[in-house]
Parts: sequence; structure tokens; C-alpha cells
Amino acid sequence: TISMAVIDKMGHVAVGTSTNGATFKIPGRVGDGPIPGSSSYADDEVGACGATGDGDIMMRFLPCYQVVESLRRGMEPKVAAEDAISRIARKFPNFVGAVFAVSKDGVHAGACHGWTFQYSVRLPSMDDVEVFTVTPQSASV
Ligand code: ASP
Repeated sequence: TISMAVIDKMGHVAVGTSTNGATFKIPGRVGDGPIPGSSSYADDEVGACGATGDGDIMMRFLPCYQVVESLRRGMEPKVAAEDAISRIARKFPNFVGAVFAVSKDGVHAGACHGWTFQYSVRLPSMDDVEVFTVTPQSASV
């Protein structure tokens, strides 16, 4: 799965996600990709979130909706991302997944469980894309 968020010069925030990865492709499956709030969510007033991982578990929690709502309530992106992942991990300790969070002013972070997650960022001030590596959280779950 590839999820991507963009913020334009006018401050509009958009997000999109590809549908399921090969691992979960079974005939007739509707993955988390097409479910708003599960593998992506955005709000111009707040920011955006994208997710990857075990969609059959993650879709039960709408982690991207959770992240954006947490940002709306004043949480930092890092805390919001970790909170959304923790909520899932508490119920499904073996799940594998990750989210990135970005506020409308470009502050970004990631959180993951069960694997190491990488996401890339390009801000207007940067000459090229930079890759960020997030290690799995353990203390908070
Ligand atoms: N979330 C995707 C799915 O469950 C898989 C992925 O992120 O690679 O379909």
C-alpha cells in the first residue's frame, strides 16, 4: 500500500491511498484502502494521515480518522500517531501496521507496530525527498 498526503500553497490538504497489497489479495475482498478514515483521512483545517499494514484489523479502528481528530484536539502528530497505533495494539498485539501523521503546517511523524516503517517527506524548503525511519513502539502498548 502507498498512502500519500499533500498540502498545496492554498493550504488545502488531500490524501490518497492505493488499495490492498499483494499479501491480502483474495477474491472479493474489500480492503481498508477504500474505507474513509481507515488507510487515509484528511481535513483542510487540521492535517492528514495515511496508513499501511494489516487492513483487516486496522479497518476496525479507523486509525487515520482517529489521528486527524486527535490533531484537531491539539495532539502533536507524533503523539497522535502513537495513540492510534496503541489503540490497535492493545486489542491485537500481533498486528503489523503503521501510520504517518502530518499537521496542516507540515509537522509530521510516524508510528508503527510489528515492523519498522519508513515514510518520505518533501517540504518546499527541501531540495529532495527525505526518508524517515520509525521503529516499532513497545513501551506504550
Ligand atoms: N493495508 C493493506 C491491506 O490490508 C495492505 C498494505 O498496507 O500493504 O490491504
